[in-house]
Amino acid sequence: MQEILDAINAGATGDDIANIELPETYRAAHVLRSEQEMFEGLESAEKDPREALHVGEVPLPELAPNEVVLANMASSINFNTVWTSIFEPMSTFGFLDRLGKESEWGARHAQDFHVVGSDASGVVLRVGSAVRNWKPGDQVTVHCNYVDDQDPSAHNDSMLAANQRIWGFESNFGGLADISIVKANQLMPKPSHLSWEESAVNALCGSTSYRMLVGNHAARMKQGDSVFVWGATGGIGAYAIQLVLNGGGIPVGVVSSPKRAELLRAMGCEAVIDRREQGYKFWSDDTTQDEREWRRLGKDVRGLIGGDPDIVFEHPGRSTFGASVFITKRGGTIVTCAATSGYMIEYDNRHLWMKLKNIISSHFANYQEAWNMNRLIDSGAIQPVLSDVFTLDTVGDAALKVHRNEAEGKLGVLCLAPEEGMGITDPEKRERIGEDKITLFRRMS
Ligand code: NAP
Repeated sequence: MQEILDAINAGATGDDIANIELPETYRAAHVLRSEQEMFEGLESAEKDPREALHVGEVPLPELAPNEVVLANMASSINFNTVWTSIFEPMSTFGFLDRLGKESEWGARHAQDFHVVGSDASGVVLRVGSAVRNWKPGDQVTVHCNYVDDQDPSAHNDSMLAANQRIWGFESNFGGLADISIVKANQLMPKPSHLSWEESAVNALCGSTSYRMLVGNHAARMKQGDSVFVWGATGGIGAYAIQLVLNGGGIPVGVVSSPKRAELLRAMGCEAVIDRREQGYKFWSDDTTQDEREWRRLGKDVRGLIGGDPDIVFEHPGRSTFGASVFITKRGGTIVTCAATSGYMIEYDNRHLWMKLKNIISSHFANYQEAWNMNRLIDSGAIQPVLSDVFTLDTVGDAALKVHRNEAEGKLGVLCLAPEEGMGITDPEKRERIGEDKITLFRRMS
């Protein structure tokens, strides 16, 4: 791997890079099939990703014609790595086995190890024989929509493909490793003004928020819309706030500490709610919700922006969904992509139908949506929300922080990149966009 890293750092040509011999094994963060029952009987909060995530050598698989081998300079922690490493809501080996039965190339994924990670920035080392648009030496970021385009269902919106998967979660050979194997249609140009770790953190969370708010398939925010965002300094929330501001909307952001409230204000969000300070108790016990508390939140929102939100950006799930449906404006939209606190959801349907509200589901993003989000990052309109950086060897510590809701924005992970700050190829553009803006989360978290 050292030869690969030296070549990249020395600015070697694509031809030189293509001639470097690939190793037979590579360093990767992975969970083991033999340990998938290790946390049985424990509560979610007691499960420690550090115990399940191993960092060690795994064999490099053969390359399919439509794939590339990528030298991963950096990656990031997403919540799906937390889910994989605590084996919730199920072990991801079931996903790998299903993919394994799909085709000859799919069979490579059904291993007794699962290399996790659904983000990466890096350099193309090899391309398969069917790859047209990319070549060795290209600097790229990777989005995680893993689609087999031979299926007709993939051709209207690839997120509707019958066999759509999330790379590094429902497939093997993910991004938290020195090398990854990705389909050519996952690649996007690396933003030239960002470092490897700043480039690596945006695709999964940013594209998810883009589809939820901006793309054609979910809430389709308009200029002037007010958008209520849970977890507004978290991974998807922090991109959501930026997309609302960039698109001429009015964000109302919810956070759970004064420090996060300050960070949110520094992003330009004026309407801020600290849910811990307010002490909302939407559930009076495990089975009963308290409408008075929904009403109190609604009143607080009206106090801040003078009305009910057109859109509610929902992902905490069971703990907040009833409140989200209640506070949405008549005719407005609740857009949901997750259920961190529980997926068996309860809300008062009278408030939905009598006020003609809509609940829209959303999941990651198709290639075009991910590409559009990457373009916004590349243009400097949207900033990375990198708050801290870990090494691959300490990936378990990073996953634990996300599991415990102790991190703001995104946590970057250095894979082959030996230190932070490398990989910026257009310093003038960086200066034009502004160091302060680009590093806001790194400085304030
Ligand atoms: P994150 O970085 O941990 O941020 C989540 C934020 O949600 C936290 O910062 C926290 O903010 C807030 N939160 C957590 N529990 C809450 C609760 N019970 N009530 C209210 N707020 C709560 O995670 P993320 O990357 O943004 O992901 C959020 C969820 O979306 C995860 O479940 C993830 O798996 C899912 N996701 C889905 C997709 C998809 O494609 N479907 C893509 C990305 C993420 P405060 O404590 O400051 O309020």
